[in-house]
Amino acid sequence: MADHKSDPVVVIGLGRFGTSLALELTRRGTEVLAIDHRPKITQSLAGRITQIATADATDMEALRQLGVPDFYQAVIAVGSDIEASILATSLLAELEINDIWAKAVSTQHGRILSRIGAHHVVFPEHDMGERVAHLVSGRMLDYMQVDENFALAKTTPPKEYVGIPLGRSNLRRKYGVTIVAVKPPGEEFTYATADTELTYGDVILVSGRTEQVERFAELP
Ligand code: ADP
Repeated sequence: MADHKSDPVVVIGLGRFGTSLALELTRRGTEVLAIDHRPKITQSLAGRITQIATADATDMEALRQLGVPDFYQAVIAVGSDIEASILATSLLAELEINDIWAKAVSTQHGRILSRIGAHHVVFPEHDMGERVAHLVSGRMLDYMQVDENFALAKTTPPKEYVGIPLGRSNLRRKYGVTIVAVKPPGEEFTYATADTELTYGDVILVSGRTEQVERFAELP
């Protein structure tokens, strides 16, 4: 299968999300064509992104003139103007762009974007809200929902697991989670093994079903 990860990417809508995305792709060496209809925003980013254009992404002719049909991947980062987001997504689908990503601000918005041709829909505000809720309300230092019901959390070891080798901890049977990696104070993360003994001050990465990871991270 061809690897399209380093192909040029079209980014439509340079709000906070689209701008961070376009700048990060550029920093990673990916060529970006960024489009926004506000001249003020395109001018302020000129020179920092491979190619930047002031155009209305709901105008098929404008997209054709910019060469959008030649791109393999595109991201529609327009959120608050739902009509523009839907129109731009449907035009990219009509142009048969192979890999269309679209940002949604609500579940209904996301459902429509999928139906009209987005291959991937992301919910940055919703996902970040969920992540911060986990950080604010518990012992977690970081949290990532990897799939619908699978999570990875950065946390500290509960008391009952300090000082015994993980292989003898029964952790997976009792809580259904796996400790993937451990970072002792002042050191780097290394993979956890059956012989690893956790100490106070360690930071651990725990994976498992969402409720199980949440339950584990609430242990004292
Ligand atoms: P964020 O929440 O990430 O800041 P917004 O939805 O507020 O995202 O911003 C979307 C960006 O998309 C804005 O910069 C806006 O000018 C741009 N935009 C909206 N409609 C169009 C359109 N039809 N064509 C091109 N750019 C658009």
